[in-house]
Amino acid sequence: MSEEHAPVDFWTALLRGWQGRCPRCGTGSLFGSFLKMHSRCPSCDQALEPYRADDAPAYFTIFIVGHLVVPLVLVMERWGDQPPLWFHALLWLPLSVLLALYLLPHVKGTVIALLWAHRIGAPGPSAGGLGPSP
Ligand SMILES: [Zn+2]
Repeated sequence: MSEEHAPVDFWTALLRGWQGRCPRCGTGSLFGSFLKMHSRCPSCDQALEPYRADDAPAYFTIFIVGHLVVPLVLVMERWGDQPPLWFHALLWLPLSVLLALYLLPHVKGTVIALLWAHRIGAPGPSAGGLGPSP
């Protein structure tokens, strides 16, 4: 199962991570459930456990959602009809939660792919990465 794989370029690895796929082979799934990662890629047997994203996906997701939602709230306040606060709460809170739930697995996959591409947390020379540098 651990046959040789062609070197993967950085952006391909990130795209595969965004799609929830193994950054090395692009076919195996990173996640067994919503955010629970497989310890190894089910397709190419790449060890995924050493690549620990910790709190980075949550931080980046909050950063992205905040930078999308807050300007919309401000635009609605400035150029809209200045709706009551309950309207803001009814609109922006569920939108923020749904957006965060959508983005979180994508961002986590991207962070894992970033860690894999730069071999951050890799235990040995054959554990991952983009391949030898030219
Ligand atoms: Zn794989």
